[in-house]
Amino acid sequence: MTLPKLSIGALGGTVSMQAKSAGEGVTPAVTGEAMLASLPELTELALINVETLCLLPSASLDFEQLLSVLRWAKAQVEQGATGVVLTQGTDTLEESAYFLDLLWDLDAPLVMTGAMRSASQVGADGPANLMAAIKVALDKNSRRRGVQVVMNDQVHAAAWVRKSDALAVDAFTSPLFGPVGVMVEGRVQYLSEPPLERMTLPYPGKTHHRVALLEAVLGADIQLLEQIVRLGYDGLVIAGFGAGHVAAQWAERIGRIAEKLPVVIASRTGSGTTAQHSYGFVGGEMDLQGRGAVMAGFLCPRKSRILLWLLIGCGMQRKVRECFSNVPL
Ligand code: ASP
Repeated sequence: MTLPKLSIGALGGTVSMQAKSAGEGVTPAVTGEAMLASLPELTELALINVETLCLLPSASLDFEQLLSVLRWAKAQVEQGATGVVLTQGTDTLEESAYFLDLLWDLDAPLVMTGAMRSASQVGADGPANLMAAIKVALDKNSRRRGVQVVMNDQVHAAAWVRKSDALAVDAFTSPLFGPVGVMVEGRVQYLSEPPLERMTLPYPGKTHHRVALLEAVLGADIQLLEQIVRLGYDGLVIAGFGAGHVAAQWAERIGRIAEKLPVVIASRTGSGTTAQHSYGFVGGEMDLQGRGAVMAGFLCPRKSRILLWLLIGCGMQRKVRECFSNVPL
């Protein structure tokens, strides 16, 4: 029997971290090749190509690096890989997964995973997560699902997954939407059909632009907001109160900024959608839309920043409203 080809790219994160000596903090040290040593049964599942693309804590990944990871992953599929698995730190996994998902225009699965416990800890979850991710990437039912995140025996869609606990093993959830699949006796069982449509964007023509993300908080002053245009930002996302609201004094500044750059208002609550025509007060979503801001819908502030950054990078500033209102659910 010919085995399928599978490529694994290691980027770092807790899944690759261990302490140099007892009592020291863990740092990225375990290469992709070494990670696979804990899974000898893999040789019966697939012909594995493993590469250590970088060894970083995920807080230090950036868009340029993710674009080169994307090129690498696409090349793997072009060279015959059935699927691709990426391991990375969990701190920014929800952002990098959505970033790659928006650019992943292939049917082959791109599956991302990590670990909440380092390789040095008792009960490290890295090997189990990696094995589950590999099985998901090899499963024929994983095609046409874009980028998925596999953690703790659950499969999550890139657009909705978030790290909702700082240290727990079950840190990854998709509030409101739930996981799209679960691992059952070593196989993925999907709970829903692949999406009928996916939003994918062209490779960004420019990458040096910047999108700021500011959170609305009780009693906040307006000094940071006042600086956004002067500091040369190309776009702004506001993590707004509730269904996408800000204080009255922010509303007026946001209106002025929206004359110059795209401004997106998301909800800081962690679940649910922004409203469109419910609240009429100054700083409410009706007022903000009237001033030119775009509501993010179900996309959280961080993912909204990713989408806005890519839209600007693709020269699609004029399509910001349309794209945010057409994010497939
Ligand atoms: N705690 C993080 C992790 O899970 C560190 C990182 O994101 O690199 O991997």
